[in-house]
Amino acid sequence: MSGNEQKYINEAFETNWVVPLGPNVNAFEEELKESLQGETQANPIEVVALSSGTAAIHIALTMLGVGPGDEVICQSFTFAASANPIAYLGAVPVFVDSEAETWNMDPTLLEEAINDRYLVTGHYPKAIIPVYLYGMPPKMDEILAIAKKYNIPVVEDSTEAQGTFYKGKAAGTLGHFGSMSFNGNKMITTSGGGALICKNVEEKQQAIYYATQARQPKPYYEHTVIGYNYRLSNVSAGIGRGQMTILKDHVAHHRMVHKLYMEGLNPIEGLRVQNAPNADFDSSYWLSTLLIDQEKFGCEPLDLMEALSLEGIESRPLWNPMHNQPVFKNAPSYTNGVSDGLFKIGLCLPSGPMVSEEDVLRIIEVIRNFKK
Ligand SMILES: *Cc1c(COP(=O)(O)O)cnc(C)c1O
Repeated sequence: MSGNEQKYINEAFETNWVVPLGPNVNAFEEELKESLQGETQANPIEVVALSSGTAAIHIALTMLGVGPGDEVICQSFTFAASANPIAYLGAVPVFVDSEAETWNMDPTLLEEAINDRYLVTGHYPKAIIPVYLYGMPPKMDEILAIAKKYNIPVVEDSTEAQGTFYKGKAAGTLGHFGSMSFNGNKMITTSGGGALICKNVEEKQQAIYYATQARQPKPYYEHTVIGYNYRLSNVSAGIGRGQMTILKDHVAHHRMVHKLYMEGLNPIEGLRVQNAPNADFDSSYWLSTLLIDQEKFGCEPLDLMEALSLEGIESRPLWNPMHNQPVFKNAPSYTNGVSDGLFKIGLCLPSGPMVSEEDVLRIIEVIRNFKK
């Protein structure tokens, strides 16, 4: 917390705006919109504050008309929340594996999947969901070119990438829709919350309509479509406004932590900290991640995880790809071995705002001492 959150929360209580709309919601949306303007050019976007990042992806797919029987392409190497909204709508996720540079959706495999789905079903998928894993942008130019060629809209799962830019454009502003998450573990938090990034005021109004139970503009309650209860609370938005005052500091901190890990761990034989392929991929490094070559370093990630744990240091495996999840065992998938390989040899390292420079140096020391 920055110390500013309480002021906005108190304001909500004093003015009795303890509801899922109000001055904090409106101001938070404006502040988010401001922060998403490109470094080089203004991006015409609107932001809708919602109860979670999952809700943002769900609303985006709803607005694209995704329904029962449709297929939606989703990056396989991700958290289940990227794919669950596809299932909520009765649609079928089609999983596409990653390329080794950014760990995100492989454009070549994406095009193969699109063509193959057309051969199998006679239809093109209804949407494409690339993910900004751990803050790193996917190869968006290539993905957007393929999406354009087949006229398939892109929904960016940019929930791990607040503070990330791709060629000067903020994560979530490149596709048709983008998403943000303010869950407790993300770059900033509202305890739980999220946002949809859309292109104009009409889309914003439609998103709010779906997020507030799809009520027709009538004096009595009339509904013509199914809606959701997904708007952000004015109290939570107050936390968000306080958090916006330290967004830049948090992003700078995550980048500093990544730099320290790079300097401390890369010289050790058998270790490699994941890093952007070039300056176009301006990652927030929401999480710093480490690859361990078992032969050269002398142990498996899970052994290292245990050694760190004995020192009171939490680490975790990378995301377990969706094409391996029992719940999605019937979903079509297009794999190349990249995410399976990364899952076996990767670890997420402590990276949050509470991890000090001193902590990072100690973590590096513990890892160094563990080398066989
Ligand atoms: C956090 C996250 C989400 C969902 O955000 P919530 O706000 O927790 O619903 C979606 N996709 C990925 C990849 C995430 O890490």
